[in-house]
Amino acid sequence: MQKQTVTFSKNSSNLFFHILTKCNLSCKHCYINKEQHGDNTLDIETIKNWLTLFSNKSKQTNVIFLGGEPTLHPDLSLAVKHAKKIGFNSITIDTNGYLFNNILDKITSDEVDFISFSLDGATKKTNDSIRGKGSYDQCLAGIKQAQAKGFSTSMIYTISNENIDELSMMPDLVKTLNIERFFIQVLGIRGKSSEIKNNKISSNPSVSQVSKEKWLTLVPKIAEQIALLGIIVTYPKVFLNNDEKFECAALFANNYFVFPNRRVYQCPVCEDLPMHSFEIRNNLLVKTEKINEKNIFSLSIPEGCVMNKLIQPDNLVYDKKGAPKYKIACCLLKQEISL
Ligand code: SF4
Ligand code: SF4
Repeated sequence: MQKQTVTFSKNSSNLFFHILTKCNLSCKHCYINKEQHGDNTLDIETIKNWLTLFSNKSKQTNVIFLGGEPTLHPDLSLAVKHAKKIGFNSITIDTNGYLFNNILDKITSDEVDFISFSLDGATKKTNDSIRGKGSYDQCLAGIKQAQAKGFSTSMIYTISNENIDELSMMPDLVKTLNIERFFIQVLGIRGKSSEIKNNKISSNPSVSQVSKEKWLTLVPKIAEQIALLGIIVTYPKVFLNNDEKFECAALFANNYFVFPNRRVYQCPVCEDLPMHSFEIRNNLLVKTEKINEKNIFSLSIPEGCVMNKLIQPDNLVYDKKGAPKYKIACCLLKQEISL
C-alpha cells in the first residue's frame, strides 16, 4: 500500500472551469453562490478563448469542467474537444450523473481522462436527502452508462455530519461499481452550507463539518479499505499537528477556479467573497486590485490557514493558554493511497 501526501508543485497546474452555474439539482451543501459566481452560461467561443488563455501551460495543466452541472451545457463536447486539441494534460468532467445532452455520444474515452460522479451517501435515503430525490439511482446508472462506453470513472464523496456514518458502507458499494478513483472531500462552509449571522459567516445547521475526532477515526481507515480494492483514494489532510509544516497552495502551485462571471480565484475557500485574484477581461487574465485573496496567502498564523480561521473557525480548538491545539492544512493538501 502506498500512502503519500501530494505536495504542491509549480510544475503542474489545475484549471477548475465552471462553464455555467445552472444545475438540475439543489443539493443542501451546494457551494455555488450565484451572487458571487454569476448565473450566465458561457458561450462556446468564450469557453474556447478562456481555455486558450490557460493553454500556454496546457501540457502540465489538468482541466476539470464543472458547473452547476456541466453536462447541461449544450456545447460541453466542443469544449472537451478544444481542450484536447490544444493539449491539456488531462481532462475531467465532474457530474451529478444525469449526463444531459447525450454527452456520452458526443465525446470519446480518448478525449476525456475521467468522468467523475458525485454521490453523498451509501444509501439512497441519505444521498437523496442531501442531493435530491432520484439522484442516487441516476448517479449509479450514469456510472454504468459511462463505463459501457469505455470511459474511466471516479467518484466524489463530500463528507458532512449528514453522511459520515455511511462512509464505512462505501467499500461494499464501490467494489460493485468498477470505479478507478475515489475522492473524499471535506464540506466547505460556502454557498448553501454557510449563512451570515451577526455579520459573521457560520455553518448552516442543515449540513455541517464533522469533528476532528470523527474525521481522523473514520476517513483514513475507510480510505485504506477502499484502496485495498485497487481504487486510488484521495482525501484532504485537513488537520496538521503543530510540528507539521503548513503551506498555502496559492504560494506554491497554480490552481485557477474560473467562474462564468469572469472571476478567477486561486483559493476555493475564498469563492464566497469578492476576493478573486484575477478577472478575465478581453480574453486576458487581469490582476484585480487590493484587497483580494492574494493579500491573505502569505500571512502566517499559528492556526494554519487564515481563510479557514476567518470563515470556518468552528473546526479550531485552543488550549487553556489560548494556543491552537493543531493547525488546519490548506484545503488543497491531499493524501493519496493506492495499492
Ligand atoms: S450537483 Fe453540484 S452544482 Fe448541482 S446543486 Fe449539487 S452541488 Fe450544486
Ligand atoms: S485554503 Fe488556505 S492555505 Fe489553501 S489556498 Fe486557501 S488560503 Fe491558502
